[in-house]
Amino acid sequence: MEPLIHFVIPLAALTILGVQLRRALPISLAAVLPDLDVFFHVHRSFSHSLVVILALSAPFMLLVWRTRLRKPAALGLLAALSHPVMDLGYYTPLFWPLYGQSFRVLVDSAVRIASSPAIHLSVKVLTAPTVFSYFKTLDAPLFTGEGLMVFAVLSAATVLKALADKR
Ligand SMILES: [Zn+2]
Repeated sequence: MEPLIHFVIPLAALTILGVQLRRALPISLAAVLPDLDVFFHVHRSFSHSLVVILALSAPFMLLVWRTRLRKPAALGLLAALSHPVMDLGYYTPLFWPLYGQSFRVLVDSAVRIASSPAIHLSVKVLTAPTVFSYFKTLDAPLFTGEGLMVFAVLSAATVLKALADKR
């Protein structure tokens, strides 16, 4: 999934939950952190493992647990954990190194309005051995047209809610 979507979905969720926009913005940036693995020429690597994210964040969480940073740190951790889950449209090493398989979830759904209305939903969970391979050039879109539309709608709704909350 593209970075803008990784960022805007936690942002919208946090503001819906009542977190102020100025606090939700930096917290939501944590959701983009797992994609920093591209700077090391690997993608959907160990940084996309829930196990690794929890293990790497544990010392920081222990450090801030008794401070006023506990809540934003916990929300940032949830935002970071949302990343691999949202990437499940591709093979993602959710439980690496505890489990050596990567997961991919394919969701196919349709609602047809015709002479005989029909609802179709199928969910397939695929697994494949986890392999972290280096790339020479990254061949992935930073954003797509659909992603920009989702980003525009969710960020506009988020800003409108923030403005409405100020009244
Ligand atoms: Zn990713």
